[in-house]
Amino acid sequence: MVHFVICPLFSPPVGPLLLSQHLHSLYKEGKCTRNRKHLSLSTSVTNFCAVLNWNINMSRIRVAVIGAGPAGLCAARHLVDDSHHFEFKVFEQWGEVGGTWCYTDLTDIDEYGVPIHSSMYKSLKTNIPKEIMPFPDFPFHETEESFVHHTAVLRYLKEYAQHYGLYEHIRLRTAVKKVSPIGSNKGRTLWSVVTEDVETKKQEELEFDAVMVCNGHYSVPYIPEIEGIEKFEGLIQHSKAYRSAEAYRNLRVVVLGAASSGMDIAVEVAAVANQVYISHNLRESLMYLPPNVKQVPGIKAASIDGFTFLDDSSEKADALIYCTGYKFDFPFLTPECKVRIEGRRVMPLYKHLIHTELPTLCFVGLPFKVLPFPLFHFQIQYFMRTLDGSISLPSKDEMDEETERDFQKRLALDMPPTYAHQMGSMQWDYFAELADCLGIKRLPPVVRMVYDYVADRRKEDMMHYKTESYTLLDHGHFARNQVSP
Ligand code: FAD
Repeated sequence: MVHFVICPLFSPPVGPLLLSQHLHSLYKEGKCTRNRKHLSLSTSVTNFCAVLNWNINMSRIRVAVIGAGPAGLCAARHLVDDSHHFEFKVFEQWGEVGGTWCYTDLTDIDEYGVPIHSSMYKSLKTNIPKEIMPFPDFPFHETEESFVHHTAVLRYLKEYAQHYGLYEHIRLRTAVKKVSPIGSNKGRTLWSVVTEDVETKKQEELEFDAVMVCNGHYSVPYIPEIEGIEKFEGLIQHSKAYRSAEAYRNLRVVVLGAASSGMDIAVEVAAVANQVYISHNLRESLMYLPPNVKQVPGIKAASIDGFTFLDDSSEKADALIYCTGYKFDFPFLTPECKVRIEGRRVMPLYKHLIHTELPTLCFVGLPFKVLPFPLFHFQIQYFMRTLDGSISLPSKDEMDEETERDFQKRLALDMPPTYAHQMGSMQWDYFAELADCLGIKRLPPVVRMVYDYVADRRKEDMMHYKTESYTLLDHGHFARNQVSP
């Protein structure tokens, strides 16, 4: 591709214009793609033309970002960085940026009737050390401890927004009510986005070339059916609405589910409750629990004053806390968006991200059991490069086939269908693949080393693993220290 580029550059302003037209017509005919090999060249040409006031690239791609949590902020940070190609708006229904990290005592709706989004509880500390949790290009501020309080994460996110000048692009207290595809621009779908000012309820319809859905996936509770639950007369709460243990003082409490929140909440509640039963179907038993926490199998049925478990044992209880996770929910998508949610699987998505039929629509952050912030960093840049043509997507059929292969691979590994977007150890190859497509730095191996080490420590000693801190020494080594008793 290089040979025809060089000569016209020497005869501005005609040169850049001819070059621009020539590149564009080749691009339209499918004879050239802006892949990574000549991206730097075309970027420098773009810059050169911009200096001469020549617009090489037609108009900029208009992107709507839904949500200003970590994913939406990460989208804004990369979009702002590439203002030659993109213009964008971030819509956030809450009054500040930070998503689920914006703790509130409220659990139902806010003063404008908007459902509370945050699932943070008062005492929450991260379950990932701050040395490996942040966006790869923006380290966490110095703190002695590695597992930091949620307020420190919010501070970090606000520093990020400030540092990259994101606030001017974010419309706070603006909810997205409706997203639908409308017609197309040169073969690409256009999007109508209806927003609502949550205070005045005034609605506005805007047009975009692409939509990034960053609405968070830990906000709409998943509540499994329990036979006879309507008879239970005790207190019932989902972890979404859990803020502190106080309501459980001196009670007998069943905590259903033993993932991160279930374990954290069981331990916290145990400090004030008489007895806690942590009910789960994990293959391995949890170790080193407080003395008043007993492990029991999953719940089979409820009665007026207690529960029967799958091994037919039963216990009296005064309260039940569902730590059963969350549902994917995109209430603003119209049926024309052709998005299907089957259990915990969102379809049809290529690389867990891009709608295969409407590839200017993406869903950031669906994979779970991951490092969320690095995940956003790679996913967002990948999507942007497909929008600006630097990365060419395969045909819809090829994308669907790859997606199905990925799903079948999981089933073959004995994962349930609900693990369609579960990553765990698969996240490292996923990140590396996206990084390589983008030609950007992979995460250094030490990140995985710390992640795996902490996962083992959590299993070994869930009550104390957060009292340790980590230092990344270099790409392949880290040190662990005890910071608090
Ligand atoms: P969110 O943070 O949920 O942000 C989504 C944003 O979209 C919100 O601000 C919401 O108001 C907005 N929004 C939603 N719908 C609309 C709409 N229609 N219009 C406009 N705005 C909308 N991750 C870690 O890395 N480390 C941890 O230790 C950790 N602990 C966690 C503990 C808990 C209890 C929970 C719930 C999550 C935890 N996570 C942790 C995961 C956490 O979800 C991610 O860190 C991160 O917040 C996800 O970012 P997000 O932007 O995708 O979603």
